Amino acid sequence: MRIAVVGTGYVGLVTGTCFAEVGIDVTCIDIDQKKIENLKKNILPIYEPGLEEMVARNAQKERLSFSTDLATSIQGCDAAFIAVGTPPGEDGSADLKYVLAVARSIGQNMNSYLVVVTKSTVPVGTANKVRKAIEEELEVRGVDIPFDVASNPEFLKEGAAIDDFLKPDRIVVGVCSQRAQEVMKKLYKPFLMNGHPLIFMDVPSAEMTKYAANAMLATKISFMNDIANLCEIMGADVNMVRKGIGSDVRIGNKFIYPGIGYGGSCFPKDVKALIRTASENGYEMKVLKSVEDVNENQKSVLYNKILNHFSGDLAGKTFAIWGLSFKPKTDDMREAPSLVIIQKLLEQGAKVRAYDPVAMKEAQHSLGDSIEYGKDEYETLIDADALLLVTEWPEFRSPNFNVVSKLMKEKVVFDGRNIYDATDLNEKGFTYYGIGVKQQV
Ligand code: NAD
Repeated sequence: MRIAVVGTGYVGLVTGTCFAEVGIDVTCIDIDQKKIENLKKNILPIYEPGLEEMVARNAQKERLSFSTDLATSIQGCDAAFIAVGTPPGEDGSADLKYVLAVARSIGQNMNSYLVVVTKSTVPVGTANKVRKAIEEELEVRGVDIPFDVASNPEFLKEGAAIDDFLKPDRIVVGVCSQRAQEVMKKLYKPFLMNGHPLIFMDVPSAEMTKYAANAMLATKISFMNDIANLCEIMGADVNMVRKGIGSDVRIGNKFIYPGIGYGGSCFPKDVKALIRTASENGYEMKVLKSVEDVNENQKSVLYNKILNHFSGDLAGKTFAIWGLSFKPKTDDMREAPSLVIIQKLLEQGAKVRAYDPVAMKEAQHSLGDSIEYGKDEYETLIDADALLLVTEWPEFRSPNFNVVSKLMKEKVVFDGRNIYDATDLNEKGFTYYGIGVKQQV
């Protein structure tokens, strides 16, 4: 089989590479010429564990190629996946200009039956807009070429994207014809070996499934953060409460970790877009509005603890930050809580020295030289007044606290992800602040 994947970002590159891995002939297309030139030299635009090797292997076997030329790349394809960005517009709704530009381009160039698959996260009704855009272009050309539009939302997690794609919990596909269903079934057959379900449904339901999934996950996070904040006020320990509720199978133990708020390229924008879709259609998503409110507030929780500890005077203090990306194992800085915390510290005249295993280059795009970047986690600590654990990379989980304590000026740890043991740190002479745990003095 042969496919084109249009948009070679996190989703498009992983999708194209994983399809190539199972033997499908894939062309990844992007309008960013530099990105494509680099990919041809096996220089990847993103960090994703295992991806570089997989791209190299499949490119070498000539199953995976890169191009800026959609017109020739889609000829003879069974399907074209649209995986371009859908950033939030000013009103919070998903901006479909990139998706529809690709749809038009497909309409201008396709010459035989094609399943056009939206993999980007798009609101209910987008498939119809994609269909209309293609039909208009075919009409301009005066040709009548059959095609179908399918919706195939992507559920991969950055940092574990390859595993998620190769061994998915489920694959959701919205189709409106038997012909499109057969193509999608054939494409995904190699991924179903271990009983992973391929769920076919109508197109609007598939489009809604992606938003409902992300909205549910964001809700779990904000709910747990709300509980954590109350635990702190009431003298309870959210780590205990989490274990206590997580053992109930109806609740489950995943995604109930409190922290400093969700970020990334998906949850904030998808929650916003769903609220917007609802309000455009006369319905109010009350739960999701609160989910957003709690999340905004949570990004300041660590900063408020810092302000409190230093009696409001942060001028001239040095803060060491471990972790910048919005979550571990990615270099994605979009909507990262670290950005909010750093900005607040800088506004108070503090100095920030940060270290992240892979995201420092990406962070520099938004932070520039406003902060210092450490060579490693320990160098970051030299003469620091406090350590802030912001992203729970595995290498930060068990540092040598004897070394940490020698390097720092003050032995204070603000743990934004509750990865350290408060008692252990207190015994080592540190003042420890977590999220939703009682402050021990
Ligand atoms: P991204 O910004 O990393 O990549 C988008 C790519 O599309 C860019 O390389 C851009 O140059 C390219 N592009 C834009 N217009 C184009 C055009 N006309 N022709 C060809 N290429 C074009 O985006 P992403 O994070 O991969 O997200 C893509 C979509 O997938 C979004 O809708 C997002 O919500 C969704 N999604 C993302 C994730 C994730 O974890 N990143 C997970 C699931 C779903």
